[in-house]
Amino acid sequence: ACAVRGPHVAMLATPGMGHLIPLAELAKRLASRHGATATLITFASTASATQRAFLDSLPPAVTSLSLPPVDLSDLPRGAAIETLMSEECARSVPALTSILLDLKRSTGGRLAAFVADLFGADSLDAARAAGVRRRCIFFPSNLHALTLILHLPELDASVRCEFRDLPEPLRLPGCVPIPGPDILMPLQDKSDPCYRWMVHHGEKYRDADAILVNSFDAVEPGPAKILRQPADHRPAVYPIGPLIHAVGRRDDKDALCLEWLDRQPARSVIFVSFGSGGALPTEQMRELALGLELSGQRFLWVVRSPSYEGAVNDNYYDAESKKDPFAYLPEGFVDRITASGVGLVVPSWAPQTKVLAHAATGGFLTHCGWNSVLESLVYGVPMVAWPLYAEQKQNAVMLSDGVGAALRVPESKGRRRSRPRCGGGDAGRREGRRGQGPRWPSCKRPPPRASATGAPPPPRWPRWWRGGRRQVDKRRTRVMLML
Ligand code: UDP
Repeated sequence: ACAVRGPHVAMLATPGMGHLIPLAELAKRLASRHGATATLITFASTASATQRAFLDSLPPAVTSLSLPPVDLSDLPRGAAIETLMSEECARSVPALTSILLDLKRSTGGRLAAFVADLFGADSLDAARAAGVRRRCIFFPSNLHALTLILHLPELDASVRCEFRDLPEPLRLPGCVPIPGPDILMPLQDKSDPCYRWMVHHGEKYRDADAILVNSFDAVEPGPAKILRQPADHRPAVYPIGPLIHAVGRRDDKDALCLEWLDRQPARSVIFVSFGSGGALPTEQMRELALGLELSGQRFLWVVRSPSYEGAVNDNYYDAESKKDPFAYLPEGFVDRITASGVGLVVPSWAPQTKVLAHAATGGFLTHCGWNSVLESLVYGVPMVAWPLYAEQKQNAVMLSDGVGAALRVPESKGRRRSRPRCGGGDAGRREGRRGQGPRWPSCKRPPPRASATGAPPPPRWPRWWRGGRRQVDKRRTRVMLML
């Protein structure tokens, strides 16, 4: 689309806005700072309106195209999302190879690198077959999760039991110890095909020339120090984060949230959102509504329709609520909070970075998706962690026990945990910290309490946090072009 001479980079985004957004941000950075152009390649299974609007908003230097659909009808109903993404990628290798060959021709030899995100490891084969010179993995999560995946081939051989049954927290080099039940969700049931896929990715990452990670040293000093050192058994690792969705100018569709926030006192609002794919079971959704109302705290809640049969990632593939989410809230709830002005509920989607950057936002009840965490850190908003799936539970442990930037939602005795969408397994029912009671004592600070005025007390930040905004300027996207 652009008449430029700079290098061209092809990027493969596996399904999920949490993968697409930071990859697009990397593409924009390469374009604005290094004169590159980029093609974002997406999968046919994720053609949601939210994704389309996002792709359409990218600058002309970043174009996009979709792979042709692949047949996944032979996979069992209820297969884990990690299995679906990995299968879709592996089955798309021939189509991707011809797309990359076309791109090579059409960009006149400028195609300098191919970048695939975390579930796209098999696509490195397509890039090799098409003769793309540099082949990288972009890991949109953190260095803790990457350390785990890189160690998976050994752990698969040495850990005989299920991770959730480990008697001691898992200790990996430089990392905060992670209790077994909090380890990456797709590893919680070794009989599920998604476990095997994750081990496969851990092996396949070794074929990459480099791994770029959306994290930074100050938030994960331990694994950053170790992964920055060259090692024979893995590619070079570059923490290039935080790459977050740029705030940009206000537009009409932001008005509902931002104009309401404009009317609230500074740092008085708790923002409640479970990411682009999260869903709560109906019962928890109703309890959350009542809890928010009873707290008297100001809140802005992105409401999504509840999960079906407890699958906490129900909205993952379309990033939109499947049904009218307000229909599941307690009777009269929306009218009451609207009349009192204490809360605002919005269906499906909010301009999250703009909300977190707003002066009225004082806290974030989050599912701990890594993009949400980075956005919260950059804008200095303390978090309350309510992890649902993927690596969110280990993120919550790292943030509460390591960084000190989040408190975990305590779990009451006997509360039944939400179940990840794992084919055939009942891992979710077995996993968790059932019966262990609240986790506040393991946190570095007591939970925030609303004062008499309803405003939360001033947060106590980790020392480095104030520098969060400065960290944004230190991104090292240049490594992409130096490789
Ligand atoms: N997001 C948003 N509005 C919403 C929900 C999510 O803009 O209502 C954005 C959010 O800012 C983040 C991404 O979608 O950049 C979600 O990524 P994350 O890793 O936090 O969670 P995931 O959706 O992958 O579980």
